[in-house]
Amino acid sequence: MRVFISCDMEGCTGIVHGDQLVPGGHDYGRGRELMTGDVVAAAEAALAYDEVTQVRVCDGHGTMRNILIERLPSGADLVSGPASSRALCQIESLGADFDVLLCVGYHAMAGTPGALLAHTWIGSLVAEISVNGRPFGETALNAGVAGDLGIPVIFVSGDEAACTQARAFLGEDLVTVPVKRALGTKSAVCRTPPDTAAAIRLGVLTALDARAARQPFRVPGPVEVAVSFHNTDMADRASKRPGAERTGRQQLTFTCPTFTDAARETWALLEWTAAEQPEWLR
Ligand SMILES: [Zn+2]
Repeated sequence: MRVFISCDMEGCTGIVHGDQLVPGGHDYGRGRELMTGDVVAAAEAALAYDEVTQVRVCDGHGTMRNILIERLPSGADLVSGPASSRALCQIESLGADFDVLLCVGYHAMAGTPGALLAHTWIGSLVAEISVNGRPFGETALNAGVAGDLGIPVIFVSGDEAACTQARAFLGEDLVTVPVKRALGTKSAVCRTPPDTAAAIRLGVLTALDARAARQPFRVPGPVEVAVSFHNTDMADRASKRPGAERTGRQQLTFTCPTFTDAARETWALLEWTAAEQPEWLR
């Protein structure tokens, strides 16, 4: 059995603030250590499971080179390097040859009340991404692409709101491990690393035991995506990319034949919108 572990940072143990999330932030070094701790717990548990033959870890936050590879166990490999050189963003290199997807360190979608560091892909741009009329967060976006490949999500760790949201999309029987409970958008009651590592290990083993009961999350095409931006300027910039229709002051809508096409086009649109113009073009 081949196991793919997609990792974000906002939903990892002890992470509560932007200072821990970006290079240059005064606590970023500790943030990387904390993220790596959750990832190591998940990877070690998967590698210890009898039928597992391969574990791939994918760094899926920000610069996408946060995880400390020197701490990862022998037998796992790591996808590292920026989104601009990837096709599938947080699940880069996931293919039909993998059997299950695990999501570690995930957070709730943009605008979720009672959630820590909630956003959808690019927090500074996106107010909401909705798919066929339903708002989707990163867990559902990645689960849908995995679903097109026939791969189920079997495990999610993150803050309580991320776990609740993941179960709402993927089924109440999904194994989830909440590592903290939000008190506000930048504060939480956090469990300690030894406790969350033990919970993640147990959760991964439980999820692998129960994997046969889990179905891939399939969103049949055609798929209509509506991206709402925080302001009109951003929607103006996004609307210069061909193929999307302006459906509101701050919203663009487009349709794709499959969910995977829709997810890739959504990321491409955001990357396009976020791209810095050279000084002389501003
Ligand atoms: Zn992130």
